[in-house]
Amino acid sequence: MRLGIISALHEEQAGLVEAMRGPATLIHGKREYFLGPLWEIDAVCVLSRIGKVAAAMTATTLVEKFGVTHILFTGVAGAGDKTIKVGDIVVAESLVQHDMDASPLFPRFEVPLTGQARFQPDQQLSLRVSSAAHAFLENDFLDTVAQSERQQFGLRQPRVHRGLIASGDQFVNDRLRIDAMNGALPGLVAVEMEGAAVAQVCHELGVPFAVLRTISDNANENAAHDFMRFVKSVAAQYAFHITRRLCQDLRQSPLQARSESAGV
Ligand code: SAH
Repeated sequence: MRLGIISALHEEQAGLVEAMRGPATLIHGKREYFLGPLWEIDAVCVLSRIGKVAAAMTATTLVEKFGVTHILFTGVAGAGDKTIKVGDIVVAESLVQHDMDASPLFPRFEVPLTGQARFQPDQQLSLRVSSAAHAFLENDFLDTVAQSERQQFGLRQPRVHRGLIASGDQFVNDRLRIDAMNGALPGLVAVEMEGAAVAQVCHELGVPFAVLRTISDNANENAAHDFMRFVKSVAAQYAFHITRRLCQDLRQSPLQARSESAGV
């Protein structure tokens, strides 16, 4: 396997690139791709930048030019439901583009001419990512996230959730807006700006993928407050250690061969 790892923000990617210990680098389409072994897994790390188009282009390039066989997106997201707290982890069970609306020609949220609104990640890979996230919370969380930061962000007993992630070209920082989205999209757990774009590309190219998000904010008026501090001191640790655990696990027991239904 060759694992493509996409991050949206520099702070989340920096640790991974360092862990590659002298990767080969290649610039393509205004992005820098880092190639090399990551905890003994053949990997390509790249910063997509923010938004659906940026993420879609990056995912396509990873597959078409760099030959990745699997994609993992790691990043932060706003909570999509009141039961989801800052510091919790979300692993996508399905993804939707919340700003897609070609109604009345097509049902709201449906991506025209694909016949679907929701895109499913690879179950096997997502399960492995969930296990890595659980192991991180149980074994690494207290050691890797400083007490001052745990206190600052009120991180007590972070949990792992599976569910629907909604992506759109909008930073959601409005209580009414997130409540409306929660009402329109049953099962919503997180809102962000890239996951569902990667999901559509992977669906169309037949590449298994997973989306992992650390909840950075409540998608309300306070969402931008301390956002970068959270990314640097908390989310970067989550992304690094969960990815490490995932790679070590994949090294020990590789994913099963794919069924032909995936189309590659
Ligand atoms: N302030 C940042 C911009 C972050 S944009 C800067 O100056 O660089 C938000 C990023 O985090 C996106 O990649 C998005 O996927 C994710 N995200 C976190 N919280 C979000 C929210 N409430 N709404 C939408 N995206 C969110």
